[in-house]
Amino acid sequence: MSQDRPFTAKSFYDFVREKVLMGCICQDCKTIMVPPRMSCIECGGERLRWSELSGKGSLETFTIVHVAPAFLKDKAPYAVGIVRLEEGPMITARLVGLDVLKPETFKIGMPMVVGYADEGGRPLLVFRPA
Ligand SMILES: [Zn+2]
Repeated sequence: MSQDRPFTAKSFYDFVREKVLMGCICQDCKTIMVPPRMSCIECGGERLRWSELSGKGSLETFTIVHVAPAFLKDKAPYAVGIVRLEEGPMITARLVGLDVLKPETFKIGMPMVVGYADEGGRPLLVFRPA
Protein backbone atom coordinates (compact mmCIF):
# COMPACT_ATOMS: atom_id res chain seq x y z
CA MET A 1 0.00 0.00 0.00
CA SER A 2 1.75 3.09 1.28
CA GLN A 3 5.24 1.57 1.68
CA ASP A 4 6.08 2.16 -1.97
CA ARG A 5 5.78 5.95 -1.67
CA PRO A 6 9.12 7.80 -1.75
CA PHE A 7 10.27 9.50 1.48
CA THR A 8 9.57 13.03 0.27
CA ALA A 9 7.63 16.06 1.49
CA LYS A 10 5.19 15.47 -1.38
CA SER A 11 4.41 11.97 -0.10
CA PHE A 12 4.08 13.31 3.45
CA TYR A 13 1.49 15.88 2.33
CA ASP A 14 -0.29 13.30 0.16
CA PHE A 15 -0.80 11.37 3.42
CA VAL A 16 -1.94 14.57 5.17
CA ARG A 17 -4.50 15.07 2.40
CA GLU A 18 -5.72 11.53 3.24
CA LYS A 19 -5.85 12.58 6.94
CA VAL A 20 -3.05 10.25 7.97
CA LEU A 21 0.01 11.37 9.92
CA MET A 22 3.01 9.40 8.71
CA GLY A 23 6.64 9.56 9.70
CA CYS A 24 9.44 7.34 8.53
CA ILE A 25 11.29 5.05 10.88
CA CYS A 26 14.88 3.90 10.51
CA GLN A 27 14.92 0.12 10.68
CA ASP A 28 18.49 0.17 12.02
CA CYS A 29 18.33 2.63 14.96
CA LYS A 30 14.51 3.11 15.22
CA THR A 31 14.71 6.92 14.89
CA ILE A 32 11.38 8.36 13.70
CA MET A 33 11.50 11.34 11.33
CA VAL A 34 8.68 13.80 10.58
CA PRO A 35 8.69 15.02 7.88
CA PRO A 36 10.48 12.10 6.23
CA ARG A 37 14.09 12.09 5.08
CA MET A 38 15.80 10.07 2.39
CA SER A 39 18.28 8.76 4.98
CA CYS A 40 18.35 8.54 8.78
CA ILE A 41 19.27 11.78 10.58
CA GLU A 42 20.91 9.74 13.38
CA CYS A 43 22.82 6.90 11.74
CA GLY A 44 22.69 7.76 8.04
CA GLY A 45 20.99 4.45 7.31
CA GLU A 46 18.75 4.10 4.28
CA ARG A 47 16.57 1.20 5.44
CA LEU A 48 13.49 3.32 6.10
CA ARG A 49 9.83 2.43 6.47
CA TRP A 50 6.67 4.53 6.67
CA SER A 51 5.15 4.42 10.13
CA GLU A 52 1.71 5.78 11.05
CA LEU A 53 1.85 8.04 14.10
CA SER A 54 -0.82 8.47 16.78
CA GLY A 55 -1.17 12.22 16.26
CA LYS A 56 -1.13 12.67 20.05
CA GLY A 57 1.41 14.82 21.78
CA SER A 58 2.00 17.73 24.11
CA LEU A 59 2.60 21.43 23.61
CA GLU A 60 6.30 22.34 23.84
CA THR A 61 6.01 26.05 23.01
CA PHE A 62 3.88 28.46 20.98
CA THR A 63 3.67 31.96 19.59
CA ILE A 64 0.89 34.17 18.27
CA VAL A 65 1.22 35.27 14.64
CA HIS A 66 -0.20 38.68 13.77
CA VAL A 67 1.50 39.13 10.39
CA ALA A 68 0.49 36.10 8.31
CA PRO A 69 1.55 34.78 4.92
CA ALA A 70 -0.98 35.62 2.18
CA PHE A 71 -2.74 32.23 2.21
CA LEU A 72 -3.42 32.53 5.98
CA LYS A 73 -4.12 36.26 6.03
CA ASP A 74 -7.79 35.86 7.04
CA LYS A 75 -6.77 33.59 9.96
CA ALA A 76 -4.56 36.16 11.76
CA PRO A 77 -4.03 36.46 14.61
CA TYR A 78 -3.45 32.71 15.05
CA ALA A 79 -1.24 30.48 17.13
CA VAL A 80 1.65 28.38 15.92
CA GLY A 81 3.23 25.85 18.22
CA ILE A 82 5.68 23.02 18.47
CA VAL A 83 4.07 19.75 19.54
CA ARG A 84 6.15 16.81 20.74
CA LEU A 85 4.47 13.63 19.56
CA GLU A 86 4.25 10.70 21.96
CA GLU A 87 6.52 8.80 19.54
CA GLY A 88 9.23 11.47 20.07
CA PRO A 89 9.51 13.77 17.04
CA MET A 90 8.40 17.40 17.19
CA ILE A 91 6.14 19.11 14.63
CA THR A 92 5.55 22.81 14.08
CA ALA A 93 1.95 23.55 13.12
CA ARG A 94 -0.91 25.99 13.55
CA LEU A 95 -2.86 25.55 16.79
CA VAL A 96 -6.66 25.67 16.68
CA GLY A 97 -9.39 25.47 19.31
CA LEU A 98 -7.66 27.90 21.69
CA ASP A 99 -8.41 31.59 22.27
CA VAL A 100 -5.44 33.49 20.81
CA LEU A 101 -6.66 36.63 22.61
CA LYS A 102 -6.07 34.76 25.89
CA PRO A 103 -2.59 33.25 25.49
CA GLU A 104 -2.53 32.63 29.25
CA THR A 105 -4.93 29.73 28.57
CA PHE A 106 -2.22 27.96 26.55
CA LYS A 107 -0.33 25.61 28.89
CA ILE A 108 3.07 24.20 28.10
CA GLY A 109 2.73 20.43 28.29
CA MET A 110 -1.01 20.43 27.59
CA PRO A 111 -2.14 17.36 25.61
CA MET A 112 -2.74 18.05 21.92
CA VAL A 113 -4.10 16.01 19.04
CA VAL A 114 -3.53 16.40 15.31
CA GLY A 115 -6.18 17.65 12.91
CA TYR A 116 -6.25 18.28 9.18
CA ALA A 117 -7.03 21.48 7.34
CA ASP A 118 -7.12 22.61 3.74
CA GLU A 119 -6.04 26.16 3.02
CA GLY A 120 -6.74 27.12 -0.56
CA GLY A 121 -6.22 23.57 -1.78
CA ARG A 122 -3.06 22.92 0.20
CA PRO A 123 -3.28 20.25 2.92
CA LEU A 124 -2.05 21.38 6.33
CA LEU A 125 -1.61 19.81 9.74
CA VAL A 126 -3.08 21.59 12.75
CA PHE A 127 -3.13 20.68 16.42
CA ARG A 128 -5.98 21.22 18.88
CA PRO A 129 -6.30 20.55 22.61
CA ALA A 130 -7.01 16.85 23.21
ZN1 LIG B 1 19.07 5.29 11.93
